[in-house]
Order: sequence, then structure tokens, then C-alpha cells
Amino acid sequence: MKDTSKHQGLRNQLAKQLEEKGITDKNVLDAIRKIPRHLFLNSSFEDFAYQDKAFPIAANQTISQPYTVAFQTELLQVKKDDKILEIGTGSGYQTAVLVTLGAKVYSVERQNELFKITSTLLPKLGIRPKHLSFGDGYKGLPNFAPFDSIIVTAGAPIIPEALMAQLKVGGRLVIPVGENEQVMTMLIRKNERQFEKHEFGDFRFVPLLQDKN
Ligand code: SAH
Repeated sequence: MKDTSKHQGLRNQLAKQLEEKGITDKNVLDAIRKIPRHLFLNSSFEDFAYQDKAFPIAANQTISQPYTVAFQTELLQVKKDDKILEIGTGSGYQTAVLVTLGAKVYSVERQNELFKITSTLLPKLGIRPKHLSFGDGYKGLPNFAPFDSIIVTAGAPIIPEALMAQLKVGGRLVIPVGENEQVMTMLIRKNERQFEKHEFGDFRFVPLLQDKN
């Protein structure tokens, strides 16, 4: 599959829609305009890739809706060279957005099939996260901690303590919390012991599951 001016036109329209839905961060909108989302999907979805919708990917998972990706990314307030932990690499689209914003991204995926597909795809597209890992994101990546921010892209029944522990003071953890429906939640670490909690309405994600598969 190729990236063409037709795709670029569709991406510009998508970014405009996201702006109309309330996304204001120019850098996030620029990243959406740059990244060829159709190349993160099976070719049968090519015609739909720039609709603001989630779609199925391998291993019964989904690529998140662009609005959700933009919303979570905006909450992170990414600065160049931020060290970011992502839980749920999936298709790698969210990873690509963070890398495009200049972050050093460490990402964990529990489905081996997706881990393999995405580890091959990202370098082909010229997108270089610092580290992709196959494992259980509930544990975070203690060997690489602490992180400037942490993003979880699957619905978490609880906020894993290991992730809170791996966040720098002043850092942000953005995580959808809940079983069937999730409340987008952001914790800001105030000091060693205290976290400030903010909530941002309902979203729907595939579940954050324990262990590897
Ligand atoms: N950011 C991805 C979202 C994929 S859906 C994208 O837009 O493509 C969520 C992903 O989280 C799935 O790939 C799922 O396999 C993964 N996941 C679920 N539980 C996990 C866990 N405990 N650790 C790491 N990844 C997990």
C-alpha cells in the first residue's frame, strides 16, 4: 500500500473533524495530518481508514478511534524528548503519534502476534520508538522507569500500582478506568505519595488483560 495525495486530503479532513470535536493541540493535529493511518490497517479497511472510528486489527483487538488517540495524547502534554511508557502497542498508531511529537516511546503489548506485526511495520514507516516489548503492561517496565508520562490504551478495571510507581513527580498517567465502559482518568503525581485525579467522561476500549498471550 502507498501513501498518496488522496490519503493526505482525507487526513486533512480528519484533523479538521477532530478540531471541530474539541481537540486544540496543534502539534497533535499535525501528527494526525502526517501519519498514514491506512497503513496501520488491513488493506480491506483502506477506504475507511480516515473515518473517525475504531477498526479491528489482528488478535481480536482494535486500533483506537482517532478522536480517542488525539484526546489521550492532548492530555499527556507531550514535550520533545519526553520519556513515555505506552501500555497496549496494538497497531502502533498511537505509538507513531507519540514518536512524531518527539517523544522517546517505550511500548508494551501482551499479544505476541501484534507485537511481531507492529515491530516490523513501524521501522518500515520510518517510525522509531526507543523500545517495543512483549509482556504484561500491568507491570510496566521497571527497568526503564521512571517515565515523564504513561498512557494506557486498553480499559483497566483498576489503576495498576506498578504504573503509578513508575511515574516521575510532576508526570501524568492517562488511563481509561472501568469494566464495560471506561472513564478517561488522569493522575498527576504531586510528590512521592500524592496523586491528583482528573476525570474526563466515558470511552470504550478493549480490556486490559493480565499476563501475556
Ligand atoms: N494503541 C493501540 C490500541 C490497541 S487496543 C492502537 O491504537 O492500535 C489495546 C491494546 O492493548 C491491544 O493490542 C491489547 O492486546 C493490548 N493489551 C491488553 N492488555 C494488555 C496488557 N496487560 N499489557 C499490554 N498490552 C495489553
